[in-house]
Formats: sequence, C-alpha cells, structure tokens
Amino acid sequence: MKEFRLQTLPWNVIFGAGKLAALPQELTALGLERALVLSTPEQAADAERIAALLGDACAATFTGARMHVPADVAAAAANKARECGADCSVSIGGGSTTGLGKALALDPGIPLVAVPTTYAGSEMTNIWGMTDGGRKRTGRDLRVLPRLTIYDAELTLDLPPAIAGPSGMNALAQATINAKDPRTNPVIASMALEAIRAIAAALPIVMQSPRDLDARGELLYGASLAGAALGAGVTSLHHRLCHTLGGSFDTPHAETHTILLPYSVAYAAPAVPVLMERIARALGADDAARGIHALSTSLGLPTSLRDIGIGQGDLERIADIATETEVVNPRPVTREGVLDLLHQAWEGKPPV
Ligand code: NAD
Repeated sequence: MKEFRLQTLPWNVIFGAGKLAALPQELTALGLERALVLSTPEQAADAERIAALLGDACAATFTGARMHVPADVAAAAANKARECGADCSVSIGGGSTTGLGKALALDPGIPLVAVPTTYAGSEMTNIWGMTDGGRKRTGRDLRVLPRLTIYDAELTLDLPPAIAGPSGMNALAQATINAKDPRTNPVIASMALEAIRAIAAALPIVMQSPRDLDARGELLYGASLAGAALGAGVTSLHHRLCHTLGGSFDTPHAETHTILLPYSVAYAAPAVPVLMERIARALGADDAARGIHALSTSLGLPTSLRDIGIGQGDLERIADIATETEVVNPRPVTREGVLDLLHQAWEGKPPV
C-alpha cells in the first residue's frame, strides 16, 4: 500500500490560446497596479506589446534580461523597479527572463507575473539562480514562485525549432528525472508521466510544423507539468552533471540536458525497472533510455558531448567535480560509474 505526504506549491495558472488578453484584469484582481515589464533585447517587441496592453498599469519596461541572470543585470532591473515605483514585474520570455523576474521578487521584493514563451518551466518552480563573477548560485524560496502564470501558446509560434527542440528536451528531462525517482511523490510522478507523454507526442510535430497551434499548446502543457514536477520534486545525478558542465565548461543549458538525459536514465535503470517501464510506455518506446536517445536523434538534436565542445580529455575532470560531494540518485553514484556514463555521452551512441 502506498504511503506518502504530499506538499505542493501554490501554483496559479491560466492556460489557453489567446489568454494573454486577460492580463490587465488579472493584475487588477491581484491588487497589482504598476508593472515593470521584462524581456530580453530579442523580445523587446513582445515587452512593448504587453506595455500597450497594460496601458497605465505599465510603469516601465526593462529589456536587458540575459541568460543565467547576471548580478549586474538584476541590479540594474532592481534600480529601474525602484525608480518607477513598480509593485510587480511581468516577464515575457524564456527561463532567462523569468529568472530576472525571480531576482526582483527577492530584491526589491516585488511579486512576479510570468508569461512563458519557451519550455524551460522555471515559472512553475520556487528555484532562483544568479551569476556573479562566473559562478552561478541557486536556491529555493517561495517568494520567487510567480503570483500568476499565463500560458498562451500563440506566443510560442515564432520560437525557432533550433531553440524549441533542446528546450522541449530540457522539459522532458525535468519530467523523466522525477518519474524515475522513488523519492518523488506518486502524485507528482503522475504529473511527470503525463508531461512525458505530451512532450514526446508534440515535440516532433512542433519541429516539423512550428506554426501548428495545437501541437504548440500540447508541448507547452507538457512543459508546464514538467516544470511543476521539478518544482515539487527532486534532483539527482542528471542535474549534478548538467550543473558541472554548465558551471565549469560553460556548455549551453538546454543542449547539455538533451545530450546527458538518455545516459543518466540508463545509469539509473537497473535500480528502478518498474518506473523505467512506465516511462517507456509514456514515451511510446520499448526502452526508456534508448527511446529518449532515438527521439533526440530523430529531431536532429545534438546527442554527444563532443557536439558541444567537450574533449575526451575533459571527462576525468568532469567525473571528479561531479562526485566531489554526495549525490542522491536511484542507483548509487560512483566515480567509475559516472566516468563510464560520460564516455558513452561523449561518443553519443545509443546508451547501453
Ligand atoms: P532563454 O530564456 O535564454 O531564451 C532563449 C532565446 O529565445 C532568448 O533570446 C529569448 O528572447 C528567445 N525567445 C524566447 N521565447 C521566444 C519566442 N516565443 N519567440 C522567439 N524568441 C523567443 O532560454 P530558456 O531555455 O527558456 O531558459 C534558460 C534559462 O532558464 C537558464 O538560465 C536556466 O538555468 C533557466 N532555468 C531555470 C529554471 C528554474 O526553475 N529556476 C528552470 C529551467 C531553466
């Protein structure tokens, strides 16, 4: 018989095509009156669109969001928020822009309303990150969870396949890691399995037909559930390896997840055969790890560490850094085991 305690996050989500139009009345309902609208420079036009939609409820825009929330960018946005008397931020964009809104939720402490346009899933988590002097710090704090998230798949139609592919696989990683871990609460694990099903079904369609609104909606739904699974679930060896590579070798976030996922799943497989079968079923594959590898390959995504500039000579050092401190994982982590995993990921062949 199952035995568990369920503690989730206070998510507040509106999901549907065209739902961005509801933003002004939703802000009013939350008692928020002066928004600082955030975006990257590439999405400045989206920020302007939100500013126009909000009218007087837009205090200013800040379009300088950058990957991994550099501390100087967060400080500049915080100054702007103080100068214009903002009582909240509205982020439109991917994990980088959501991340900036989370930084503002900590300082100057204004709530975030998120409008995600990628599959990063950050809007469903209480995890913040900030980079200073080449080091990324992360933590969990309930204040950074958006007060409201509006998912409007129409805003994702222009996300290029080159970004959508790895971003969708990053969402698949968040879901798979939690579906395969016995520590994950069974309710959250079912959300993770539903995320795997939706992402595996929709991502190939999105890559072929980027303007298919139904597929975009299904992929965004899967990414939302995957983010929720990450927010209420656990991290393990997969995240440790991704952070080691991102932090010490500056590899791109979503691509690193994409490459390592099949191998970290294969590593855990012998310890959790029943969970692996469920993941395989959700993927529509015979085997979870090889099914994920086949999906990446069929989408033309990077599948080997050499594709992102890692040399074979770097693998020993990566294994050392990744195993410096204990990692909780369904199958115990050893340096030799990690090194074997890294060699397979460097070659990029189907995992064994
Ligand atoms: P991103 O936010 O950096 O976006 C990549 C590029 O795509 C940007 O130039 C962006 O403006 C552009 N873009 C986004 N949506 C678009 C759209 N619909 N149309 C056209 N262009 C669009 O990338 P990301 O992968 O979404 O986020 C990565 C960041 O998020 C990393 O820093 C990662 O650490 C963080 N993250 C955090 C969490 C968390 O829980 N805190 C979870 C996942 C990712």
